[in-house]
Amino acid sequence: MSDKINKEDGVQSDKETSNKKCIFCQIAKREIISEIVHESDNFIAIKDINPVAEGHMLVIPKKHFVTLLDIPNKLGNEMLEFCKKVSFELLEKKLGDGFNLVMNNLEPAGQFVMHAHIHIIPRKEDDRIRFLVRV
Ligand code: 5GP
Ligand code: ZN
Repeated sequence: MSDKINKEDGVQSDKETSNKKCIFCQIAKREIISEIVHESDNFIAIKDINPVAEGHMLVIPKKHFVTLLDIPNKLGNEMLEFCKKVSFELLEKKLGDGFNLVMNNLEPAGQFVMHAHIHIIPRKEDDRIRFLVRV
């Protein structure tokens, strides 16, 4: 289970909310070179290294939160606005005629990188991408 669950908006220091070994923390701090496509006060958007579709983006909080449950509510509006901006641009660039927002929370739900992130995946008719299929 995630070690920091914020049921309320807590003020946390950078020290508490950054993890030296975490790849997304390192990208957010520009310790690892990765093209940051969009940036706001608390979020970045990068291209997924292993895209499901062209334009597949990851929206990542700059601070180290593990799952959605750890992200303070006070960042909710900024996160939504940021996701809308990234999604709108994907449509504008004609990378998709639709899009999915997907968030895997904890390992049983398919979370591999334990730093919260939202996938934004452009979709086209008959692109053969399938989510949530029981096998
Ligand atoms: P998860 O299954 O945790 O929701 O997905 C993690 C995503 O992060 C995967 O789609 C994977 O391709 C992507 N990813 C993992 N490491 C890196 C990286 O170093 N750079 C980028 N751009 N994407 C990464
Ligand atoms: Zn992190």
